[in-house]
Amino acid sequence: MAQVALKNLTKTYPGGISAVSAIDLDIGDGELFVLVGPSGSGKSTLLRLIAGLETPTTGGLWIGGSRADELAPADRDVAMVFQTPALYPHLSVSENLAFGLRARRFPKTEIGKRVTAVAARLGLDELLNRRPATLSGGQRQRVALGRAIVREPRAFLLDEPFSSLDAPLRAAMRAELIDLHRKLGTTMIHVTHDQAEAMAMGDRIAVMDQGRVVQVGTPLEVYHHPASRFVARFIGSPPMNILPCAVEWSNESARIQVMDTPSESAWTAELGSYWTKSLRNRKPTRVDLGVRPEQIALANGESAEPGRLNASAEVRRLEPLGHETIATLDLGPHPLSLRISPGTAIRVGDQVPIRIDPNHAAWFDAETGLVLQ
Ligand code: ADP
Repeated sequence: MAQVALKNLTKTYPGGISAVSAIDLDIGDGELFVLVGPSGSGKSTLLRLIAGLETPTTGGLWIGGSRADELAPADRDVAMVFQTPALYPHLSVSENLAFGLRARRFPKTEIGKRVTAVAARLGLDELLNRRPATLSGGQRQRVALGRAIVREPRAFLLDEPFSSLDAPLRAAMRAELIDLHRKLGTTMIHVTHDQAEAMAMGDRIAVMDQGRVVQVGTPLEVYHHPASRFVARFIGSPPMNILPCAVEWSNESARIQVMDTPSESAWTAELGSYWTKSLRNRKPTRVDLGVRPEQIALANGESAEPGRLNASAEVRRLEPLGHETIATLDLGPHPLSLRISPGTAIRVGDQVPIRIDPNHAAWFDAETGLVLQ
C-alpha cells in the first residue's frame, strides 16, 4: 500500500501536444481515487505517467514516499488494468493469473496459494482451465483484474477497465471493485469518463479538463460546490442548469433578472442575505446562476415568494424514469431540467410556475466560468 504524490507533473508529446500540465495531487494510502473528465482531458496520460509507461516532461512523482519517476515500470510495484484486457491467448486462466509471479520467480506453492485465493475472490474457480477466447468480456476483465491482484502491488491503476462492457455488467463490476477495494485496502487510481461511475466509486475524485485538474474533492463536495461552470455541467445527470443573469446594483439590494425573460421574473435580493456575499464582493453586472435539477420547485398556484426567482416556463419534454420524472422546461430561451415526482400532473405544452431559491444556487463569473465565493 502506498501514497502517490504528483508534483507539477507535465507531459508534452512530440509536436507540442500538451497532454497534462502542472498536475499536483496527493493520493492517500489506501484511497480509491478517481480521475474523471471528458475524452482527451489527459486521464490516461496521467495514469501512464504513474505506471512509468510515459516519462514526464517536467515535474516529479512519489510512490510510498520515494521518488519514482526514475524507476522502470517493473520497479514501481504498481499494477495496471487496461480497457481491453491483455491476456495471453494460448494460456489458461490459471496460467494467466500465475504468469507475473512465475516471471518474478515466486515459489510454486506461493503462486498456487495466491492464484487459488484470487480465483475464489473473483468467482473464477470454475474457469481456471479455460482459455481467454472462451470467456465473456466480463470474465476476461475479471481475469485481468485477478492478474493485478495476485501481484499484491502497492497501488492499482485502472484505465477505464469496464468501458467495453454493457451497462448492467459495468454496474456489477463497479460494485465488485468497490467491495474489493474495501477488502484489500490497497490504493486504487481509477480512470473513467463516466461521471456517475466516478461519483459511485471514488473516496475522492479529480475532475480533469484540457490536461488540468480543475477540482479535487469527495463526490458530494464536487456535486454541491462545483469550482466552475465546467464542473457543474460535467458532474451530475442531468447537469446543473446554468441561467445567464443581468444584475443591477443599488446600495442595499441587487435586482437580478434571467436574461431574455419577462421582467416579472426578476427578483430583488437584500444584500444582507448570506448568499449575496459571493456577488456583492464583486458586483458583477453579468453572472451565471447555477441550479441543480432537484433544486427547482414547481409552484402549485401559490403566490410569488419574495427573494426568489418566480417564473413561468413551458413544459417541453417529460422523461419518466419510474422513481422520478425528468422534465425539460423552456424558460424563455433557456432549457431547464427538473426532477419531479412521477405522479405530478403536468403535460407537454403546459405553462407551469417555477421557484428557484437562491440559497441553494451557485454563482459563476460569466466570463471565466469560475465560481464566485
Ligand atoms: P483521456 O485519457 O482523458 O482521453 P489522453 O491522456 O489519452 O486523454 O490524451 C490527452 C491528450 O494527449 C489528447 O489530446 C491526446 O490526443 C494526446 N495524446 C495522447 N497520447 C498521445 C501520444 N502518444 N502522442 C501524441 N499525443 C497524444
